[in-house]
Amino acid sequence: MDAYAKQLDVLKKSLQYREVKPFAEGPNSNWVDFSGNDFLGLSQHPSLADAAGQAAKEFGTGATGSRLISGTSESILALEKLLADWKGTEAALVLNSGYQGNIAILQGLLSADDWVFWDRLNHASLVDGVRLSGAKWKRYRHLDLAHLQTLLKAAPFNARKWIVTDSLFSMDGDYPDLPKLCDIAEAYGAFVLVDEAHAGGVFGKEKRSGLCEALGVSSRVTLQVGTFSKALGGFGAYVAGPDVLIKTLINTARGFIYSTALPPSVIAAAHQAVTMVWEDSSLCGKLWENVHFCWSLLERELPPGYLPKLQKKAQKTQIIPVYLPGSDLALRVSERLMRQGYMVRAIRPPTVPKGQERLRIAISAKQTRTQIEGLVSALKCAIVETAVAR
Ligand SMILES: *Cc1c(COP(=O)(O)O)cnc(C)c1O
Repeated sequence: MDAYAKQLDVLKKSLQYREVKPFAEGPNSNWVDFSGNDFLGLSQHPSLADAAGQAAKEFGTGATGSRLISGTSESILALEKLLADWKGTEAALVLNSGYQGNIAILQGLLSADDWVFWDRLNHASLVDGVRLSGAKWKRYRHLDLAHLQTLLKAAPFNARKWIVTDSLFSMDGDYPDLPKLCDIAEAYGAFVLVDEAHAGGVFGKEKRSGLCEALGVSSRVTLQVGTFSKALGGFGAYVAGPDVLIKTLINTARGFIYSTALPPSVIAAAHQAVTMVWEDSSLCGKLWENVHFCWSLLERELPPGYLPKLQKKAQKTQIIPVYLPGSDLALRVSERLMRQGYMVRAIRPPTVPKGQERLRIAISAKQTRTQIEGLVSALKCAIVETAVAR
């Protein structure tokens, strides 16, 4: 036990110690939430709650077994059909969570002879999945496709290759030039897996299925992964792509084979959420209005150097990092904002590299203009005062 206690002390001393803290749930919470990923406010939407409640009453609270035993219901199959249509792919498979699903997919598809190329800021679940698969891997610098190309060039010509990337990066709010990434993949015969966890429900004019749709590469990307846990307001995940790969996963992905299927209520909420984002563009309209409003206020009010420099042609997104490098500055500003009622989290190593500590502002359709104005003015004061007091 002593060794564990010591390990915790080390974390505390380096200000990397973390705790779980409760915060009031639901619409009556006192917080203005700028940290959750409920980008469309769907987690509180009555029609999702109704769908979930009804499914629980009708089918019960548990799926009773794994998918290959007793856990495959008509509802799950209907959701998979809907997902494939939404994503424009041959097939789709529901997985139990984004984290667990990515590990399942990568372990299920990769073997020791394969080569994987991944963005160094990829989500932990993609990193862990690649590592556990035993495949050979190379990391490229964040969004640096020239670096990716150099690494591909150096890999064995005949090896099976996968490029694996987030679409919208969860801590930076930026995204790769996917058409160019697909050009490179095609030139080197590599498959592409794109994780749309933060982009599904948010990007895409016609169906809001993600950045692959928005950037016109849905048919060029091999596998699109996503979660129901962010803009879709629920829980669980999916992978969409060619029939042969989905069938392969059903037979090889241990995280799929050896885990109980998601409960009926969760499946029903996900079905309702996908239907709503697909049919109703107004959900997204309010989000984008808030995104542009918040960005323009931040650009006007904050001293230079705190906001990211966007890549050429890149769009501003609903995740806005405000850089406050140094071990405790982001933490202190965050604590101050929390005392004023704004829930904004400090993001620290190991989630982001040392020296890139930041606040992460998450914009949602449920925020009001007044709340956004309040946040920006509180943030401005906090930055000016805390930075001077340093
Ligand atoms: C959040 C996230 C996940 C994990 O999804 P969960 O459903 O929360 O487990 C996976 N990949 C990316 C890119 C994410 O942002």
